[in-house]
Amino acid sequence: MAGVYISWPFCSQKCTYCNFASGVYPAGLQERYLERLLEELQGHEWRWTPETVYLGGGTPGSMAAEELRAVLELVPGKPWREATLEAAPGAIAAEAVQAWLGCGVNRVSLGVQSFIEEELRRTGRRHTAEGVARDVALLRGAGIGNINVDLIAGLPGQTEAGWRASLEWLERLEPPHVSAYMLEVDEDSRLGRELLAGGARFGAGAVPAEEKIADFYEMAVEFLEKRGWRRYEISNFARPGFESLHNLKYWRLEPYAGFGADAHSFDGEWRTANTDDVRGYIEQGPQPERTRADVASERYLTGLRLMEGVDLRAEDEGRFGGAVARFQAEGLLEREGARVRLTRRGVMLSNEVFEAFL
Ligand code: SF4
Repeated sequence: MAGVYISWPFCSQKCTYCNFASGVYPAGLQERYLERLLEELQGHEWRWTPETVYLGGGTPGSMAAEELRAVLELVPGKPWREATLEAAPGAIAAEAVQAWLGCGVNRVSLGVQSFIEEELRRTGRRHTAEGVARDVALLRGAGIGNINVDLIAGLPGQTEAGWRASLEWLERLEPPHVSAYMLEVDEDSRLGRELLAGGARFGAGAVPAEEKIADFYEMAVEFLEKRGWRRYEISNFARPGFESLHNLKYWRLEPYAGFGADAHSFDGEWRTANTDDVRGYIEQGPQPERTRADVASERYLTGLRLMEGVDLRAEDEGRFGGAVARFQAEGLLEREGARVRLTRRGVMLSNEVFEAFL
C-alpha cells in the first residue's frame, strides 16, 4: 500500500537550523500556491489508493480549514490508516484541531525541537514548554492521541542539563512517538552556513562539539528506551503500535506520491522530485525531474536505518557481501541468516556503513 506526501512550505518565521525548502512568503503567494497544488492533485492519475497521508513542509498546521479540506478532498482513500499533519507548537487553536479531525487527520507531529526557552529563542522559534503541554492536552482531549514530538540534539547553547530537561518534558507529556535528530550542518540552513564558515552568528559559536552532540543522542536513546519508547529507526522512537506508518514506507522502499514544492515520489522504479523553488512551482508547476532508482542499493541504504534491519538478497551477495562481512568484523553490523542490521555502535557510525552501499 502506498502513501501520499503533501508539501505546504509556508512558515511564520525561518528557523536558523532549518534546511527545508520552506520560508516566509507574502500571503498572496500562498493562495497561488494552493491553486497550483490543487491542479497537481487533480491532474494525478491514481494507480493505487493511498493508506497514509503526510502533510509536511513548512507548517501545514497553519493552513485555513477550507484550504486543508480542498487539498485532502482530492486524495482518495479517506479514512486513511494514518494522516499526519505537521504543526508548529505553542498556539494551536481548538477550532483548528476540530477542522483537522473533520478532514481526516489522525496524527499530529509537533516541531518542538527543545523545551528550553533560551535554546528556542536562538533558533527563532516562539513557543514555550508550557505551550507545548497545552497543545498536547488539547489534541488528546479532541481525540488525537497519536502525537509526535521532534527534538534536536546540538542546538546552540545546549547543555547536558538542558538536554536532560527536554527529555524529562517528554516523560511528563508522554507523546507516543518521538523523533530525535542531531543538528544537521549544511549549506542549506543559515546556522549550517555560519558554522561551515567558522562564524558566530545565530549562536554558531555556542553549538556543542560533535562528540557532545553524539553523547546527547546516546543519552536520549538510553532515556527513551528505559521508559518504553522503542527505537525503530535511527532517529525515531515509538510506543508499540505508534511507529509512523507513512515514514516506514520510505525506509521499506514502498511507493509514495508527493505533491507541492520539493515533494518527492517513488513508484518502485523511478524517483521524481518536484522543483524546490516555491515561486518556480507557482509560476511553472512542479517541473518534475525523474531518475531511475538504484533499487538494489537503496534497499540497504534505507532498510539499514531500521532497527529491524533488512535481508541481504542472494543476488546482492556479490556486490555487498564483502562490505557486510567487513562491518560485521568491525562490530558495526550484525547478521542472522539473511537479515542484516546495524549494531548500537553501527548506528553511531551509520554514515560510514551507508557509504559502502552507495
Ligand atoms: S523548522 Fe519547520 S517551522 Fe522552522 S522554518 Fe523549517 S519548516 Fe518552518
